[in-house]
Amino acid sequence: MSSDPNCIFCKLIAGQIPSRKVYEDDELYAFHDIHPHAPVHFLIVPKAHIPSLAQATEAHQALLGRILVLAPKLALEQGCNPYPHGGFRVVVNTGDEGGQEVHHLHVHVMGGPRPWAKG
Ligand code: AMP
Ligand code: ZN
Repeated sequence: MSSDPNCIFCKLIAGQIPSRKVYEDDELYAFHDIHPHAPVHFLIVPKAHIPSLAQATEAHQALLGRILVLAPKLALEQGCNPYPHGGFRVVVNTGDEGGQEVHHLHVHVMGGPRPWAKG
């Protein structure tokens, strides 16, 4: 599986830097964001190093689909209230102008009672 030795999320997935794990399987890892913007804020990442959504290809379709199907399940487990009055926000910052700071594809899942720190 592709990994970048200089990538903070590759290191986190490898256990070389600590994280608060939410979920793990063969392809995916989810962990709490270190600077949460909402009462529930975790990230879902592929274990393989893909720099951003801009590099996604047809080969990644199933992987990306798995992330989106996992998001609502983990959101509820982590304390988001149920749809429709609860819910959550899913964000994929992509590139500098998209606000991406860590260049390993990650899906933010944010939810919980408002107000949130941002948004
Ligand atoms: P983005 O701006 O979409 O690239 O978001 C990167 C996110 O990663 C930010 O919300 C950071 O708070 C979060 N983050 C950075 N380093 C860590 C870390 N070591 N553990 C957990 N979250 C992190
Ligand atoms: Zn990486």
